[in-house]
Amino acid sequence: MSSNAALQPNSIDEVRDAVLASTRVKVVGNQTKPPLCSHHDSCDVVSLGQLSGVVEYQPSEYTFTALAGTKVSEVAEVLAERGQYLPFDPMRIRAGATLGGTIASGLSGPGRFRYGSIRDFLIGAKLMLGDATVVHVGGKVVKNAAGFDIPKLLVGSAGELGAMLEVTFKVFPKPPATATLKLPCESSQQATDRMADAALRRWELDAIDYHYDTSTLYMRQRGPAEANRLIAAEIESQFGNLERLDEDEANALWNSITELNWSGDGSHVVKIPSTTRHAATLCDTIAAAMPIQLHISGCGNVVWAALTEEDGLDELESLLVTHNHRGLCVCGPSNRTKLNPHNETNIEAAVQQAFDPTGRFKS
Ligand SMILES: Cc1cc2nc3c(=O)[nH]c(=O)nc-3n(C[C@H](O)[C@H](O)[C@H](O)COP(=O)(O)OP(=O)(O)OC[C@H]3O[C@@H](n4cnc5c(N)ncnc54)[C@H](O)[C@@H]3O)c2cc1C
Repeated sequence: MSSNAALQPNSIDEVRDAVLASTRVKVVGNQTKPPLCSHHDSCDVVSLGQLSGVVEYQPSEYTFTALAGTKVSEVAEVLAERGQYLPFDPMRIRAGATLGGTIASGLSGPGRFRYGSIRDFLIGAKLMLGDATVVHVGGKVVKNAAGFDIPKLLVGSAGELGAMLEVTFKVFPKPPATATLKLPCESSQQATDRMADAALRRWELDAIDYHYDTSTLYMRQRGPAEANRLIAAEIESQFGNLERLDEDEANALWNSITELNWSGDGSHVVKIPSTTRHAATLCDTIAAAMPIQLHISGCGNVVWAALTEEDGLDELESLLVTHNHRGLCVCGPSNRTKLNPHNETNIEAAVQQAFDPTGRFKS
């Protein structure tokens, strides 16, 4: 593995030239998820950061199309001017995450709980395949049921299916007010029991996260302020002992979760898909075995694990193997990407062959 200097094409034609000139290509954005950008020495690195800008924004249709190298923060600003947003809480956006990198790494923040993850918001893409042909997949309208939903395949593809050039998202209107409730818990089991309980209620919470190290459950509400207040009172009568965070505290909290800053600079951060039912046991098992920081997001659907020593990744992987979980390293200086990876399935091999017959983009 090495850090070859990146080619920085300024146009789709230049991307095509770069792809055709190489036998192995690693496509990157702003490299905010370094382990996912690691590559073999023989790879040419093609950065799509220059392919930037919103191409089309239709507030009345709740969709936008932008070049894949556009920073998510830029898009968020454009949307905010019209009271709209991406409700899945895109991650690492202050670090400079691009739209393409966000899709390819498949990362969604706490908002995935109520609104769905990034795969629910990506509706179309212009993609360069392994033979440098450009194809359009999906569409530019929300109601589009024609054909296979190919854009979804790009979510989590880590640059292996092709180079995303342009992407189309649906967006949502931003609710008028946000409130964050903080609830101390006695154990991670109590926290996930409360998560499951809260998810079943009519409260329609926007996010339910649990910070393992401080045994604190956080619940975020979005809606009219008066409705938030009434529902918070109902939650308090159920769980008791709630604290309402002020706006600055709440912003700092959710930013630290979406930026993965809670773990401290330089940590190796690993995403571990889970379920509300299994997250507490998984965290307790990991925490009992090794020094690690843990955070449960998306009402238990994701466990984030952060550790400082690279050697700890081996120990974490053996725990994941034992408990049949998988991990994806998204931050930190290590080149390791997958912990306990699964073997490629026939369908995955067939998709890879169809998109990238010469294996140009395959790691
Ligand atoms: C040809 C065709 C193409 C389509 N293409 C797409 C597509 O590309 N993308 C997409 O997302 N969807 C598509 N759809 C789905 C379609 O848009 C949805 O089915 C529709 O929006 C749902 O509304 P409905 O009126 O059919 O609800 P219904 O199925 O008629 O009703 C659903 C429920 O809502 C209740 N209900 C309905 N209307 C009312 C009312 N006014 N007041 C109170 N209760 C009510 C009904 O009692 C029922 O319980 C397509 C549908 C068709 C027929």
